Amino acid sequence: MTVFKSIAIASALVAGTAATAQEKFITIGTGGQTGVYFVVGQSICRLVNRDSAETGLKCTAPSTGGSIANINAIKAGDMDMGVAQSDWQYHAYNGTSQFEGDKFDKERAVFSVHSEPFTVIARADAGIESFDDLKGKRVNVGNPGSGQLATMEVVLDAKGWSMSDFALASELKPAEQAAALGDNKVDAIIYTVGHPNGSIQEAVSTVDAKLVPVEGDAIDKLVEDNPFYAYATVPGGMYKGTDSDVKTFGVKATFVTSSDVDDDVVYEVVKAVFDNFDRFKKLHPAFETLKEEEMISDGLSAPLHDGAVKYYKERGWME
Ligand code: GLU
Repeated sequence: MTVFKSIAIASALVAGTAATAQEKFITIGTGGQTGVYFVVGQSICRLVNRDSAETGLKCTAPSTGGSIANINAIKAGDMDMGVAQSDWQYHAYNGTSQFEGDKFDKERAVFSVHSEPFTVIARADAGIESFDDLKGKRVNVGNPGSGQLATMEVVLDAKGWSMSDFALASELKPAEQAAALGDNKVDAIIYTVGHPNGSIQEAVSTVDAKLVPVEGDAIDKLVEDNPFYAYATVPGGMYKGTDSDVKTFGVKATFVTSSDVDDDVVYEVVKAVFDNFDRFKKLHPAFETLKEEEMISDGLSAPLHDGAVKYYKERGWME
């Protein structure tokens, strides 16, 4: 009797394990909750989770520190995929800049998403008309782990400046920086992000502030020397207080993973996005102008993941 009972329990346990073994949890690294990466991750997961019954994939996309934090988490195997700026995708794969001595050979590109201009927003009363006017000012340079902090360091290097050229270089998160600008704790904030962006809209609606151009010889050289940088313009009229176009440079937001992640998983994720592409494009205004052919080539410097290649070939987008 007891024997039968324990056999029954054991087989119930086995059945239970078998059912859950088909489920696979995947995590996508994003950025701050007020940014666009968070929307990218949430949107991808929403599409992936619609097919959970067939694929077994359960996707979550928590808020993170941003590009550098995501790449490091994927490298460590703590996350499966993530969003990262094209400059940091490049440097991680090549072991250059911040990734010197820390090459991520297994990094794989999946697709690129929207453009991210390097954006400087200054209080109207701070006397800041150009990037050079930031010298001696209180600037939020970005949180540790973010792409904007890392790219800001590259810009400072290119200009022969350092963080000590600012009266204050604070490292607040995107969700905190609009309030800091409004409360006059900082004169300017830096954000490498897709537009239009809710956190910049919040900043310019709480205080008189404007976008400031980022131009000059050092920027020209960065764009000339590096394939992952391009000139960028934030259209006038997009944000209150900024009526004319603002020139700067920028990167692409890209979706990356590791060759350690199964082909089937990456295939299903890519399929969920591109089989439902019209739906995906409606999930944020920064996605409206996305085009499939650009997404599978622009801003990608690590090799494409095999699971993504399989889908792109099936669609006839690759030979
Ligand atoms: N570009 C930023 C970063 O790499 C994130 C922007 C966003 O969250 O949309 O950290």
